Formats: sequence, structure tokens, C-alpha cells
Amino acid sequence: MASLIFVTGGVVSSLGKGLSAAALAAILESRGLKVTLVKLDPYLNVDPGTMSPFQHGEVYVTDDGAETDLDLGHYERFVRQPTRQLNNATTGRIYSDVIAKERRGDYLGATIQVIPHVTNEIKDWIERAAEGFDVAMIEIGGTVGDIESLPFLEAIRQLGVEYGDKALFMHLTLVPYLKAAKEKKTKPTQHSVKELRSIGIQPDVLLCRCEMDLTEDERAKIALFTNVPKKAVITALDAKNSIYDIPMMLHDEDLDQIVIDQLGLQEKATRPADLSDWREVVDRLVNARHEVTVAMVGKYVDHADAYKSLSEAITHGGLRERIKVNIVTFESEDFSEGDTSALDAVDAILVPGGFGERGFEGKVNAIRYAREKGIPYLGICYGMQAAAVEFARNVCGLENANTSENDPDTPHPVIGLITEWRDASGAVERRSEESDMGGTMRLGGQECRLQNGSLSRQLYGREVIRERHRHRYEFNNRYRETFQQHGMVLAGLSMDESLVEIVEIADHPWFVGCQFHPEFTSTPRDGHPLFTGFIEAALKVQQGNREKGAA
Ligand code: GLN
Repeated sequence: MASLIFVTGGVVSSLGKGLSAAALAAILESRGLKVTLVKLDPYLNVDPGTMSPFQHGEVYVTDDGAETDLDLGHYERFVRQPTRQLNNATTGRIYSDVIAKERRGDYLGATIQVIPHVTNEIKDWIERAAEGFDVAMIEIGGTVGDIESLPFLEAIRQLGVEYGDKALFMHLTLVPYLKAAKEKKTKPTQHSVKELRSIGIQPDVLLCRCEMDLTEDERAKIALFTNVPKKAVITALDAKNSIYDIPMMLHDEDLDQIVIDQLGLQEKATRPADLSDWREVVDRLVNARHEVTVAMVGKYVDHADAYKSLSEAITHGGLRERIKVNIVTFESEDFSEGDTSALDAVDAILVPGGFGERGFEGKVNAIRYAREKGIPYLGICYGMQAAAVEFARNVCGLENANTSENDPDTPHPVIGLITEWRDASGAVERRSEESDMGGTMRLGGQECRLQNGSLSRQLYGREVIRERHRHRYEFNNRYRETFQQHGMVLAGLSMDESLVEIVEIADHPWFVGCQFHPEFTSTPRDGHPLFTGFIEAALKVQQGNREKGAA
């Protein structure tokens, strides 16, 4: 039976529950425990797939094809254990499961209520997700006191009783520092714990987010008012250098040992914590030797979390060669008219995934600039599709070529729904069932074979890779030959060769477009071949230009 660690938050949102949980999980993993993390979101959307990245941040995709909360991205960046559909549930998902059962008659005519039916469904979900692990950390989204969170809190309260010593409640709060009074205020923490206790949950550990260290007296005071042992009242300062400092910070506060002792995991935690990987990551971040600037040309560029995994992956890409990467965001609409001179100052250009017409022409113009000027280019999903459109128009001479997503009447749908181009050619007979599942998207991890001699093959260092997808449209096979004749390399194909997954331009310093999302599998410790290659190419071109300038 897994031990359960429940993570709740109080006072305000955005305290970094997900990051703290992930960082603690990283320490526990380094101590030899098998750890998984689960996020329970209190909103009514059945999954985050349809939520605007503007409001909610990016949609993270798991290998098994779930569209999930971005906290799962933090989890995968901090622990080796991949996440699955089971690692994220929303109120909407839980309710729709309960209602489906009711419709099937599974409850044999009983009156269906939040307690016990909804809470039982939540408990089942948690236990299924925890199965096979030493420790499952369960993060409850939102803050204690929200009406929406109540069924989740009731469910974990019950699990706390059932699991006894095998359950632990960790609560994050804020201890604000009032500059005028020159004082740290513990009252919000006291109130938040009171709120938690009023629904029957006594926290075992408090992580107090604070701008400065809590004194012994302050911790003693919080301990006294909250019934939490003083050693388990922990200061969680803002990370100085990087979020990848957090495992070290929590370990310095003895958090892993407190947790292991309380859950009786001493025997399973066979190793002392080894955080050398994380120290190395932070050292590489802090002590960079080079610096490059990457332009990200997208649509949701104002919302910091809309491209969370992507900005992390770009940063990871510089770690091997100690390259500090500055990411400059550009609203793609600003390039719609063709003036891309704002890109003169950058070392590399990236167009991320996206949907819809707005800003598409601006992306195409930015890509043209990258192609013609020999600037390293990485196009992800929509960014690959836009690169195909640009190449079709400006290199192959296919006038008004487009993706049928933007222009259903284009004479050259170089990107289209499989059903569209398959019907037109009659050639491809496969996978409409698979990729049109639910009438929607190709989702999750799929294998791809890399062509010998391609840049991608060299970067990955292997022939078969597995990457995650989230899109409806595909490269139109009817244009394969034309593209190849004009110098585009179809560097990656699906295993049955029916779908183009990676395109490259042979006669260019570094130009890669991939139909999948490599940012979801990049980690700080290992990086990702495409991002590492991209950032190192940016440095190389920058250095080449400097030499030319000096000569
Ligand atoms: N809109 C494109 C499609 O659906 C690309 C999606 C994406 O970039 N994730 O195929």
C-alpha cells in the first residue's frame, strides 16, 4: 500500500504547491522511493484540453494522451516517473464518471449524493493512481475555503482516517512581511489552518512561504496555534536562482526526513538524499559562459504560463554548453504586414504550437526571415505546419498554399485533415479512426523513425524516437515529392511511413519543424536533443557572425 501525502494550500493561490510537491518528490525519489504525483483540480471542465491557455496556462500532454494541468509538467521535470491520465482529475471528470454510473444503473437505485458517491469516486481515483508506488503525493488545486474544493477535502479527510500513519497532510501558507510594521504576520496562517481543521484535517507539516527566514520564536508561535510540531513548521523562501534550487532548499529544512519518519518509510528509503544532479543544473544556470537570444513568435505570449514547458525546455537547451538563453516574445500579428526587422537582433527563431488564423501570416513571415537569413529555426506543431506553408509558397512556388485550418479553399492544402487529403488522392487508407478519436485530435506519445543522414537523426543519436502529439492537421502526402525536389528533407516519418513528423531544410544552418511537442519531454537534468541542438546552433551562428564582423 502506498503512503499518501496530501498537499493543500491556504491564504492565497499561486503559492507554488505544484513546485513544492514536485521538489519534495524529487528528494524522495533520490532516496530510493518510487513516487508519483497527482493533481486534483476543483473546476468543472472535464479536462483542461478545452481551456484557454490565456486563463489557465498551457495544456500539458501526457504520454498516454491525456490533456492535463500544467502542474504535471513540473512533476515530469522533477521526477523520472512519467505521469499518466490517472495523475490528473477534475471535478468535472469525477462528476461525469459518477453520472455515467448512475445512468448505467450501477448504484441500484440509490440516491446519489456528494457524500458518499462523489467522495468515493475521488478516493477510488486516488488509490488507483497510487497503486504500485511507495509514495503518492496528491495536490488539491485551489485554496482551502473554496466551495469547489470541499468534496476533494472531504475525500482526503476520509483517506487520512483510513490510512492512519500512512497518510500525511502538508499545507502551504503565506507569511506576509509588512514593510511598514517591519513584521512578519502569522495570523493568515493561523486562520488558514483553523479553516482546514474545521473540516477535520489537521496538517502535519506547514510550508510557510515567506520573503525571509522565520525566527525560532515565529515558528514556535505558529506551532502553538496550529498544533503542528515546531520542527515541521518549515520556511519556504522564494528560490533565489531558479526553481531547480527548491529540492536543495527543502532538504536543508529536513523536509524529506520529517516525511519519511512520519510515514515510517525508513526501510524503503534506502539511500541518503543525493541532489548532485540538481546542484549541477543550478550551477550551469547560474554560471553561464555564453548568452543567446531566442525569439518566440506566438499568440499567447503575454501570459507567462501559456508556454510553460516550452520556456523551460528552451532554458534546458542551453545547459549542456552553459548558454544563458534570453527568450524574447513577439506577438506574431505584428509581423503580418511583412516587416520582420524586429528579428534582426535575435540569434534564433522559434514558432510554437497554436490554433487558428489570427497571427498565422505573421508566423509565416518570421519563418521566411529565418530561412532566408540562415537563422536557426525550430517550429513546433503549428510552427512546423507554418514552415511547410512558407516553403510551399516561397520555394516551391505554390501560390496561396495554406493549411486548410486557415483557408479551406486553398488551391494547395499542404497541411490538411487526413480525411481531406486522403479523400482527394485516395492513396492513404489508414488511421482516420485513430486520429479522429472523439472527432478531435492526435494525442499523446507515438513513435517516429528518423531518416539516416538527417540532422534529427544525428541529434537524437538513435533511429526510433517517441514524442507527444496534440493536433488535428497533418502534412499532406500529396506534396511530399514537390517538397523534396525543392530541398526539404522529410527527416521523420511515423513508423508506417504514412505521416510526416519532422521536416528539415538541407541547405540551411539549422532548420527543423516537428509535428510533435518536444517541450513536454525536456527535463533540466537531461535536456532534449532538439532544444539542445537548437540553442547550440544559435550560439554557433552568433559566433560565426561575430568573427565575420571582426574580420
Ligand atoms: N492547429 C494545428 C492543428 O490542429 C496545430 C496544433 C498545435 O500546434 N498543437 O493541427
